[in-house]
Amino acid sequence: MLATDQGKDLQKKDERYIWHAMRGSAPVSGNLIIKEAKGAWVVDIEGNRYLDGMSGLWCVNAGYGRKELAEAAYAQLLEMPYFPMSQSHIPAIKLAEKLNEWLGDDYVIFFSNSGSEANETAFKIARQYHQQRGDHGRYKFISRYRAYHGNSMGALAATGQAERKYKYEPLAPGFIHVNPPDVYRNPIDEHTLESAHEVDKVMTWELSQTVAAMIMEPIITGGGCLIPPQNYMKKVKEICEKHGALLICDEVICGFGRTGKAFGFMHYDVKPDIITMAKGITSAYLPLSVTAVKREIYEAYSGNEQYDRLRHVNTFGGNPAACALALKNLEIFEDEKLIERSQVLGERLLKELEELKDLPFVGDVRGKGLLIGIELVEDKESKKPASVEIVNKVISACKERKLIIGKNGDTVAGYNNILQLAPPLSITEDDFTFIVKTLKESLRSI
Ligand code: PMP
Repeated sequence: MLATDQGKDLQKKDERYIWHAMRGSAPVSGNLIIKEAKGAWVVDIEGNRYLDGMSGLWCVNAGYGRKELAEAAYAQLLEMPYFPMSQSHIPAIKLAEKLNEWLGDDYVIFFSNSGSEANETAFKIARQYHQQRGDHGRYKFISRYRAYHGNSMGALAATGQAERKYKYEPLAPGFIHVNPPDVYRNPIDEHTLESAHEVDKVMTWELSQTVAAMIMEPIITGGGCLIPPQNYMKKVKEICEKHGALLICDEVICGFGRTGKAFGFMHYDVKPDIITMAKGITSAYLPLSVTAVKREIYEAYSGNEQYDRLRHVNTFGGNPAACALALKNLEIFEDEKLIERSQVLGERLLKELEELKDLPFVGDVRGKGLLIGIELVEDKESKKPASVEIVNKVISACKERKLIIGKNGDTVAGYNNILQLAPPLSITEDDFTFIVKTLKESLRSI
């Protein structure tokens, strides 16, 4: 609760005028109003400091308060603030080239503003791609339960979390879900790849000739930090190829070092056909997203200029200041070796947190890079998900000790039991120590 007059006044106005994300009109206590931020730390209007163990929403990968990022955007705004991407400009060209370097392959870049839009763009590109080749029946998308792919009617249809969807249906038709691997509950999947075989079965049952693409995150992030069996993604790619479907890889969270590699798919020896990115591309300093498309797919859009083009445009995508900032952001990643840092610190963090499994309600601690999930259960035998009340208690205990962590899951589907930790990749040794100490104390206090 805010204590000062200024704090109370701002809180009153906040409640009066803002419809917050994921909220109704019932007043909530403890809403943070943040006024400044530096490194991994954010400061509220009354001077309370919190370590942001979620990098906002898994996005402030390079950390807060980077003057050079603000300067890159400022210089570009002065030079040339806007031009539509049906034509071009220098920062977009440079960024597209840089992304190809990071991807290590030949991709053509379409710019948008958010992860949802990047996925919508991918769906349209995939559907039209098949049509361009005279394959007119392919319109379906296979995605996974528990995954989140965005808030718009197509991206939400791809999402596999009932709670986010059921009040807004009907969504875009043509999206079919399969089970994701959950190695904690089904360890045998590591050997049998049963979850990958399900993709094969469903593509067969749906009729291959109706399937346009599969969309997947390399690691399901928000839906529970589900680290797949090592061969799962490769198998899924083979299955897509067998059925003539494309593989769209959603790197909105996994990209830009979050999992300890430049992109999440790089852990799994696959080359996706389409890759979507957002969040970490600018470390969230400005909105920008990307749909990266394998050259062969792009080249199917050749021929008649009128009929064979992608009929898709957005006003703000590829904003010059956002592109200039993204380029500087990637330069920081390279200079400070943030990807390697994510990998090393992630491994250390997992090792440190392993001891928490002694607690009767900590079922699993898992992660890759600085993407960590702690799964809380009622008991270790049944692995029944812990109640959301317990999860909220841990989150509050962390917050009291000035550490922000997250949770994600689906209350309707009966699991909302996974704590999420995803600090900026730039955290210092002191930050690291603080996170470990605070998490341990908070969990042990329950
Ligand atoms: N895909 C994934 C994996 C995401 O986590 C998110 C957002 N959390 C999105 C897509 C949608 O991104 P945005 O909120 O920028 O639309």
